[in-house]
Amino acid sequence: MAEPVHTCDVAVVGRGLLGSAAARHLADLGADVAVIGPGEPAELASHNGVFGSHYDESRITRVLDRDPYFARIAAASLGRHRELEERTGIEFYCPVGHLSVSGMGDYLDEMLANATAAGVDCDVLDDVALAQRFPQFRFGHGMTGAFDARVGGHINPRRFIAAQCEAVRLQGGQQIDAVVTAIEPESGRILIGLSDATVVKADQVLLATGAFANHLMIIPKEIDFAVQEHPVVFAEVDDGVAADLADMPSVICKRGDEIGESVYLLPPVRYPDGRNYLKIGQSVGSLMTDPATMLTRWFQSGGDAAIAAWLHEELAMLLPDVEVRSSHVVPCAVTKSPTGRQFIDRFPDSEIYALLADDGHVAKSADELGRIAAHRMLYGTVPTEYADEDYRLVYR
Ligand SMILES: Cc1cc2nc3c(=O)[nH]c(=O)nc-3n(C[C@H](O)[C@H](O)[C@H](O)COP(=O)(O)OP(=O)(O)OC[C@H]3O[C@@H](n4cnc5c(N)ncnc54)[C@H](O)[C@@H]3O)c2cc1C
Repeated sequence: MAEPVHTCDVAVVGRGLLGSAAARHLADLGADVAVIGPGEPAELASHNGVFGSHYDESRITRVLDRDPYFARIAAASLGRHRELEERTGIEFYCPVGHLSVSGMGDYLDEMLANATAAGVDCDVLDDVALAQRFPQFRFGHGMTGAFDARVGGHINPRRFIAAQCEAVRLQGGQQIDAVVTAIEPESGRILIGLSDATVVKADQVLLATGAFANHLMIIPKEIDFAVQEHPVVFAEVDDGVAADLADMPSVICKRGDEIGESVYLLPPVRYPDGRNYLKIGQSVGSLMTDPATMLTRWFQSGGDAAIAAWLHEELAMLLPDVEVRSSHVVPCAVTKSPTGRQFIDRFPDSEIYALLADDGHVAKSADELGRIAAHRMLYGTVPTEYADEDYRLVYR
């Protein structure tokens, strides 16, 4: 490799939700940090490099979760969003409320108990109360809602990343716009080769490379995680509809646990093209059979037409009075570990660490996961309220 042009204590590879949050917490804890990753591709279809799962303007935030762990890490993250906005001057958090609707009583009871344990009490609305409070929606007979009016809503993932990176910059850290193509140990330190042929030298490296973790051969050992395909429909609405839906919460409507039984919906947000888009997607994605060859092709594709058609039908059913002016589909991907937890761990015999396996829904929890990873790297263990063994790497 060439002579290093940057040196730092910790290089974070991946400038997504998790990498940017970890970089900020590392910087807050006193480390000299470089966060390395490319910006968004100009066009997905012709881009031939790595992709991220954060290329739009809204992600649901909620503490309503069936798993107490996910409720807890979401609550911890949401509790710090306002402070990060104030510190950086970058706003990204819209606590317009989150509504989870289902006919499955156990599912709602578990979520409500976990939200309460995480310090957030929610309202319970039967089908009559749901229709009164949210007349724009048609959820159907026998559906009950759990409504969090306090911390739920959505964040803008692009602005969240910008805020985390700005906080790193304010602490004297660096942001490097490049893809990492090689990682090699050298005399007790680590050399990181970049796509622009420059080199970074660091004492420790954190891999937060999302679905592309096993790609480009930069990972010390391939990890065991599954990739799921998630096409998303963006439905354009005019300014009048957007104004009518200004108070709309983020929504999950769950009829069951299988593919085709659950959708999520985000209120209209104005995009950089000046248009307002509602966003609808499936909660459970399809397993990608061969990510090594299919992952890049999936991001280049127009998404799954059959799933997109179903999402259009769901949108028309849930919001029957909303007139959609145009729509388009964007492919996205999430990862699932066999442990059901993130991998926040050190690779053997190295100072290379992982912050991987998002389980499909950790935009809302990214700040806390970044904090956990920063502790693991700098103090050798995760914060005391968590347990190292829950985050162990599993290899292929
Ligand atoms: C359609 C969709 C909807 C979602 N909705 C929600 C939601 O409503 N709420 C929620 O909480 N979560 C949601 N999620 C999940 C959430 O977006 C992910 O959990 C989150 O993006 C994971 O963050 P990450 O940093 O691990 O990965 P990413 O956000 O994908 O970031 C990884 C980054 O690593 C970079 N990278 C990869 N390889 C390299 C390399 N070799 N060198 C340098 N950089 C590299 C990529 O460019 C990318 O920027 C959704 C996901 C999808 C796909």
